[in-house]
Amino acid sequence: MRLVTVGSVAFDAIESPFGKTDKIVGGAGTFITLASSFFVKEQGIISVVGDDFPASTIENMKAKGIDIQGIQIKAGEKTFFWSGRYHNDMNSRDTLVTELNVLEHFNPIVPQAFQGADYLMLGNLSPQVQRMVIERMEKRPKLIAMDTMNFWMDIALEELKKTMALVDVLIINDEEARQLSGVYSLVKAAKVIRAMGPQIVIIKKGEHGALLFHEENMFFAPALPLEDVFDPTGAGDTFAGGFMGYIAATDDFSFENMKRAIIAGSALASFCVEKFGTQRLLELTKKELNARVKQFVTLGNFEMKEV
Ligand code: AMP
Repeated sequence: MRLVTVGSVAFDAIESPFGKTDKIVGGAGTFITLASSFFVKEQGIISVVGDDFPASTIENMKAKGIDIQGIQIKAGEKTFFWSGRYHNDMNSRDTLVTELNVLEHFNPIVPQAFQGADYLMLGNLSPQVQRMVIERMEKRPKLIAMDTMNFWMDIALEELKKTMALVDVLIINDEEARQLSGVYSLVKAAKVIRAMGPQIVIIKKGEHGALLFHEENMFFAPALPLEDVFDPTGAGDTFAGGFMGYIAATDDFSFENMKRAIIAGSALASFCVEKFGTQRLLELTKKELNARVKQFVTLGNFEMKEV
């Protein structure tokens, strides 16, 4: 097994200026593994759903090569439900509902087949659960990456710090980086965060791209300017899944390769937002993805003589 992900598999309901959905399939673990499936063939997911969750969705994940034996199905219980409403600028959103349901007492089980994995991706979940997964891996993976959000900073900061101390890569957005570090400058924030544990810090800036801090090096990846954004839900998870999938497939976490992994994640995220939920990722082809990677290369490329 190359890559193991722990993350929510969920129902989401989205409201955006482009429309409204009923309960559709979402969840950080779903977006992450669908994204990494473009690069890595041997991957597994650890999660939990209720018996209200459609078996066909789990079959779709399986068809993408994702090992689903780590998804627990709880009889008589309900799947995690999240609902959000996007503002007109599509950059900010309000969470309308968070029903933890099966996630409330989630006890992550690492199947034997997942032991020995080289790469571990901790999707946005309670830091205690994230840490349990690290502790339950018999061999420490070569690289552990983690996502988190302000919700955990507000209610479980000490637990979050304990988990952060155990990981190599932290992937968060700009506002969360500022909250966690207590400083405004993202360069200074990355320094403060690196002193907390993760030596590699990736700060996402939504439609303004992402920053990578790796030892003394810094890299900036743009986001592709799009004419229409329908639903940004899961874009951050898709970015993280694309990043980690690319690293796991290439088995190289040098600075130069991390730059490519960030572009892979950014390209996938640019598709995710084009339709509601996981729809665009499910129909996306490798050919379309490669065409978009080319657009990214062109977007940031220029020649200049000395001024
Ligand atoms: P993103 O847009 O990348 O921030 O991720 C949105 C996804 O995260 C949605 O599909 C939700 O189901 C999931 N999600 C939202 N809040 C939580 C939470 N507290 N724990 C786990 N997953 C969550």
